[in-house]
Amino acid sequence: MKNIYLIDVTNRDGVQTSRILLSKLAKTMINVYLDEMGIYQSEMGFPTLKHEVNYINANLALAEKGVFKTLHLEGWCRAVPEDIELTFKNCPGIKHLNISISTSDIMIEGKFQGRKTWKDVLHSMVEALKVAKSLGAETVGVNAEDASRTETGKLIEFALAAKENGADRFRYCDTLGADDPITIYEKIKTIADASAFPLEMHCHNDLGMAEAVSLAGAQGAIEKGLDCYINTTINGYGERAGNCDLVSIILALQYAHGFEDKVHLEDGVDLKKAWKLARYTSYAFDIPIPIKQVGVGANAFAHESGIHADGALKDRRNYELYDPEDVGRGEPELLQTGRVITTGEYGGLKGFRHVYDELGIHFHNDREARKILELVQYANLHTQKPLTDDELRFIAEHPAEVSKMLTVSVRYR
Ligand SMILES: [Zn+2]
Repeated sequence: MKNIYLIDVTNRDGVQTSRILLSKLAKTMINVYLDEMGIYQSEMGFPTLKHEVNYINANLALAEKGVFKTLHLEGWCRAVPEDIELTFKNCPGIKHLNISISTSDIMIEGKFQGRKTWKDVLHSMVEALKVAKSLGAETVGVNAEDASRTETGKLIEFALAAKENGADRFRYCDTLGADDPITIYEKIKTIADASAFPLEMHCHNDLGMAEAVSLAGAQGAIEKGLDCYINTTINGYGERAGNCDLVSIILALQYAHGFEDKVHLEDGVDLKKAWKLARYTSYAFDIPIPIKQVGVGANAFAHESGIHADGALKDRRNYELYDPEDVGRGEPELLQTGRVITTGEYGGLKGFRHVYDELGIHFHNDREARKILELVQYANLHTQKPLTDDELRFIAEHPAEVSKMLTVSVRYR
């Protein structure tokens, strides 16, 4: 049986969302946590966007150092040759790319306004793909933006052109969240049959079905003997009504009755890291996790009404499909209610050394400590919220890369 692989797009689709954003340190921590969770790939950002370049290169350096065990770091850009050239000029070490172009008539007419025809779209994608491969991309996913409103025949033509020119996957983007599970299942089977090319499902939640359509599409691809990659975001954060939620997808693949023995998630995904990842991401974005969020919401394992509480107390399986421990919950959390020393943007050396001593990280002398303190001050300047213990540890472990990702040079003329 073929596998499902997860590509998390929080650091690209998540951060491009209105009103919500992440510091470069937070994006990096998310990459670290995704790797700890055994996720296949992180769409880490925009290599053509100036303020992303140092962050991306710092993360590529961390990958070189072996910081990421399984995670592929991938950049996103438009499927036009100029963007690919700029990507490799900015980030020469980048190995994985997803390149995107609109394929539906409504977008070709509405966005390009007569400047591009369907043939031009195909040509641009193929040329961009060739440039990416010639400049050293190991994998290239080719994205059909607004695939759900594109004729199936055109999607097949697009996927085949990508396959013939060396692409590695075809990303089906349900950009407006317009698909329903049965339609997408049939459509993906048709595309899979005709192209025999691995598929990526990228689905939005405008109709509240992002996870359902992603899984239905994936099942169609798997039934046709193809690997399928599902795009997710942490806590479902994303454009408008959000994207397909990472934890929901993993839980569905493990516990939905219909998927057992039919659809297989790649080995090595550790769902027990879900709680930490979801909580950190909520903190970093400054958005609460909804009370009813799958697996990680405050009420995911709460019971109050008479019949439910009684049933859950007698046997938790009466009212719980899976256990809190499955998603890494269940440990009590300690809260400091007395004196506390913190460090950050305006911190000094004594407090800083005390905080790191408590973390078990000791510096040889004040000079060494001061160098890390300066990074902590800058990191906190970027995050504008108390640095977490993991962030503080990460800064001390990888000072050169942290220094790089915190640096942004601006030229204003
Ligand atoms: Zn999207």
